Amino acid sequence: MALGRSAAVVIGTFPLGESDSVVTFFSREHGRLRGVARAARRVRSRFAGSLELFGHGQLVFFDGGRSELVRIDHFDVTEPFAALREDLDRIAHAAWITEVVGRLTGERDRQPALYGLLVRSLRAMNAPGRAVRVAVCFGARVLDVLGQRPRLDRCVECGRAYPFPRAILAEAGLVCEPCGAGAGFVVPVSAAAVAAFARLRAARWEEAVVMPLGRADAELRAVLDAHVSRLIGQPMRSGHFLRQVAAFGRAPGRGSMDA
Ligand SMILES: [Zn+2]
Repeated sequence: MALGRSAAVVIGTFPLGESDSVVTFFSREHGRLRGVARAARRVRSRFAGSLELFGHGQLVFFDGGRSELVRIDHFDVTEPFAALREDLDRIAHAAWITEVVGRLTGERDRQPALYGLLVRSLRAMNAPGRAVRVAVCFGARVLDVLGQRPRLDRCVECGRAYPFPRAILAEAGLVCEPCGAGAGFVVPVSAAAVAAFARLRAARWEEAVVMPLGRADAELRAVLDAHVSRLIGQPMRSGHFLRQVAAFGRAPGRGSMDA
C-alpha cells in the first residue's frame, strides 16, 4: 500500500456506516480524491474535527491501488477558514465553488491551476469583502482554467461582432438572437453583465475582487450558475441553497445579505 501526501482542500464529506466518513478532497498533486476516514464520527476520533468542509491542509493517505477510495491517515489543517464558516451567505457561495470544482473535474485528474484558484477563492471568501464577488471571480476564471473560456467579442454561430441586442450565453460564448432561436437551453445576458464579465477576467485577481461593477454581480452570478449547470448537465445543488439564503436575506426584519 503506497503512502501519498498532498496539500488539499475538503470539498465534500458524507457519513459511511456507523462511524466512518467518506471525504472528498481536491488536492494539488492528485486532483479530486476520495478517501475513507475510519471512525471519524466518533467523539474521540483522532481526526478531531479536522475534516470540516472547506478546510485547507496537508493530507496523508494510503492508496491500495485497487479502489478509487484511499484510506485517509491524517489531515493537518493549516487554514480552517473559520470566518467563512460563521456566515451563511459565505458558506453558500463557498459551497457553490467547491461543488463546481468537484463536479467539473474527474477523479484523480491533476489540475494545479484549478487547485490554486480554489485556495485563492476560499482565502478571499474568508476575508472581509463581498462573497458574491468572490464567487463571480471564481466562476469567470474556472472556465478559463478548464479550457471552457466563452467568447464575448462576437456571435460564436454567425461571427457577428458584439455588441448586439438580446445576447445569450451559449456554451462556447455569446450568440445573437437570430442564431439563438431554437438553440434550446441558453442564458440571456445583459450588456452590463457582458461588460462586467470581460472586465473581471481581464483584471488581476486582487483588482477583480474589489472593482466597482454596479449591479452586475447578481446577474453574473446567476448567468455563471446556469452556464456551469449546463456544462455539468444538471442543476447545481448549491445553486438552490444560494437562492434560499438570498430569499432569507430579503425577508422582512432581516438585514440585507450579499447574495
Ligand atoms: Zn449570430
